[in-house]
Amino acid sequence: MLGTDIKDYAITTLGSHTALQILKGAKDEGFKTICICEKGREGIYKNYNVADEFLFVDKFSDFFEIEDELVKRNAIMIPHGSFVSYLGWEKVMDIKVMHYGTKGILEWESDRTKEREWLKAAGLRLPQIFKSPDDIDRAVIVKFHGAKGGMGYFIANNPAEFYERIKEYPNEKGYVIQEYIVGVPMYTHFFKSPLTGELEIMSFDKRYESNADSIGRIASKDQLDVGIRTSYTITGNIPLVIRESVLADIFKMGERVVEESKKLHCEKTNSTLEKGLYGPFCLEAIIDPELRFNVFEISARIVAGTNPYVHGSPYTWLKYNEPMSTGRRIARDIKTAIESGRLEEILG
Ligand code: ATP
Repeated sequence: MLGTDIKDYAITTLGSHTALQILKGAKDEGFKTICICEKGREGIYKNYNVADEFLFVDKFSDFFEIEDELVKRNAIMIPHGSFVSYLGWEKVMDIKVMHYGTKGILEWESDRTKEREWLKAAGLRLPQIFKSPDDIDRAVIVKFHGAKGGMGYFIANNPAEFYERIKEYPNEKGYVIQEYIVGVPMYTHFFKSPLTGELEIMSFDKRYESNADSIGRIASKDQLDVGIRTSYTITGNIPLVIRESVLADIFKMGERVVEESKKLHCEKTNSTLEKGLYGPFCLEAIIDPELRFNVFEISARIVAGTNPYVHGSPYTWLKYNEPMSTGRRIARDIKTAIESGRLEEILG
């Protein structure tokens, strides 16, 4: 039987990505916190005083070397983007320390084909995929597998352009050719609590990408003369609010994604336990001028776009009347689960 005093647990994460708000949120809720850092990279976590304890590894992929220490401390591991990318979803499946969230979902999120199947089944509108370059009949964005933060993606308008541009990437093994949607990017940050059963919209952001977000500062003739290529390297996140009239539809989309994830989880694990996706997740979309949400990706964990809202967003303010970051919202659910003897329900 797991104890019901939060003092017996420690909220833990890797010192990267969204660790500042996760650890601060946990402290605000009264938890002890542990930050796992690569040696020499603990500075900012000390500076902002968010960790009660540090555990060190040479590199994050050595996580398993310190796992026993975490188990001894009753640590609850909060996964974030860096955790999934440094360990890989296969290794996340093997961790034995308490893990917040359904591990199996990370596999679906990491595989573009499975992710698409999931979102399609949830009835979302997705950019079209072109199986062969010869089928390209409109603007497309070519995404290489494993590209980090949109680096190296390119745009083509027809097969000839595609074959010309792809020559510049002789070492890339695989790619997907996706319809390029002209519109504005909008990232929706959700939180689904298995305890209250409620879906919350925490916040929105858009990314600040180099050089996509600065290319408009150069005249098109100069862009062509100098041969500038668009890249989408993420450098930061910009807070946003959305037109109020579309909020209701976004809630519905989030609900359908959660419902579908439960079916997937049952099919995959042959279980009747409908855990599926819960906690924080994000739908990444381009909104076109007809106000349609074209979803090109889901992140099934906390995203860096929630970082502008350490003190809460307009949406969390409406709901909570107190500062509520996504990191703190996670800690609050864990606290409620521990104190009501329901911890198993939020571990996966
Ligand atoms: P991450 O995995 O970190 O989210 P990534 O490397 O998978 O990043 P994406 O998020 O897929 O990259 O895309 C990078 C950027 O490219 C997006 O922020 C968006 O601006 C643009 N983009 C992606 N897909 C499309 C699309 N279908 N139409 C228009 N723009 C797109």
